[in-house]
Amino acid sequence: MKGFAMKKIGETGWVEKEKPKAGPLDAIVKPLAIAPCTSDVHTVWEGAIGERKDLILGHEAVGIVDEVGSLVKNIKVGDRVIVPAITPDWGSDAAQRGFSSQTGTPLGGWKFSNDKDGVFGEYFHVNEADFNLAILPDTMTPEVGCMITDMLSTGFMGAENAKIPLGGSVAVLGIGAVGLSAIAGAKLLGAGRIFAVGTRPVSVNVAKEYGATDIISYKDGSTSDQIVEATDGEGVDAVIVAGGGPDILIDAVNSARAGSVISNINYFGQGDTLPIPRIGWGFGMADKNFATGLCPGGRTRMERLADLVTHGRIDPDLLITHRFKGLDKIEEGLLLMKDKPRDLIKPIITIEY
Ligand code: NAD
Ligand code: ZN
Repeated sequence: MKGFAMKKIGETGWVEKEKPKAGPLDAIVKPLAIAPCTSDVHTVWEGAIGERKDLILGHEAVGIVDEVGSLVKNIKVGDRVIVPAITPDWGSDAAQRGFSSQTGTPLGGWKFSNDKDGVFGEYFHVNEADFNLAILPDTMTPEVGCMITDMLSTGFMGAENAKIPLGGSVAVLGIGAVGLSAIAGAKLLGAGRIFAVGTRPVSVNVAKEYGATDIISYKDGSTSDQIVEATDGEGVDAVIVAGGGPDILIDAVNSARAGSVISNINYFGQGDTLPIPRIGWGFGMADKNFATGLCPGGRTRMERLADLVTHGRIDPDLLITHRFKGLDKIEEGLLLMKDKPRDLIKPIITIEY
């Protein structure tokens, strides 16, 4: 089979590989919809998680089940399934402690395009199929299902981890697909005022649609100065960091009031250390607490997010700005994600059989 791979740091291309085999608990899936992620860009062009050789990329997919292992009970060949970006080992110690995305090693639930081939191939392997695959609802398109696997799950986690009080204020720094999902999550969780920090007009429109009450441009001066001024010198109850380089943490801490959570969902791809402003952080004593997390995976999480879509709480289709047909187009989609033209939020590739 063929797949689109990271050949080495900074280089991508097509590779030929053996079709993967299913162990007793696993499934083999063929993609129906796949999307490139900014994380693929960090992985390939920043070498963020180290050298990889001919590793098939991609971790966002909806697919059709081609094969199941002998012990799989609930998933059948021919089922259309939502495949979470993160597929934990559900019996692991970390999962039992409540941190399923960190199974084995930190970030160990992230298997696709990290420690095994990802979803940008003709077939891909899914571990623990009964616990990691959710049936795609009949009313949901594969494109929309694909937006759930990582963008919604990560963005909503950003809002959940931020512990936003009912009616509280939140600032979302970075409004790509992840930050926009965080805005939608913050609204669903009862935020009163939601600051969206970003500039791409296409993203600003969706931010308003998803519940942003205030738009701040980080190109018009310091983000934190603008947020502190708009909140009468106080800062916000919660900050969600969903874009930018290391210095965005300075804005995040300086935008947060004393007694707040700074919820990071950004992937910092470079450098050894990250900056925290000493005075803004109250000399380390201002109850400005950090939360971090890797996208939650697994069947139940996907089913719950799918319910939010089915019952009209969010329309993930608004995140998709570029649509392609055929596995061959994944290269074009990934390069778009790398180059980020101003009219882009998220590209998607659909495959018909
Ligand atoms: P994106 O690049 O589309 O969006 C980030 C936006 O932030 C961009 O529009 C960028 O211009 C903007 N930005 C840059 N500097 C900024 C600043 N100082 N202030 C405000 N905005 C600024 O990316 P995305 O696809 O939305 O993903 C966001 C991040 O989340 C990426 O780092 C991605 O790798 C990461 N991610 C993390 C997880 C996880 O599990 N935690 C999952 C998926 C993606
Ligand atoms: Zn991703």
